[in-house]
Amino acid sequence: MARGRPRGKRPEVEPIRRKCATCGKIKVVKHRSWSIPTVSSQFSQPTYNPNSQKKDRIDQPGVTVINYCSVECGGESFINPYDEDDFLR
Ligand SMILES: [Zn+2]
Repeated sequence: MARGRPRGKRPEVEPIRRKCATCGKIKVVKHRSWSIPTVSSQFSQPTYNPNSQKKDRIDQPGVTVINYCSVECGGESFINPYDEDDFLR
């Protein structure tokens, strides 16, 4: 029995409406740009404890998120730069 998420199935995200960072309209968020801070010192790496209470990503300290309503507003980082030729051998 395979564990985890089936291949090809994306996690389901509840649609939310937020202000788009580019056009300023309140629309359904299509793309989000997350900024996660790195651990500042290599000597204070937190150890991973699988039994610890899960925290939402937004609740982590220093995390910011920017919402975009569309690929046009999100900019180039959301555009797939590959085309069919990149996969030919
Ligand atoms: Zn927008």
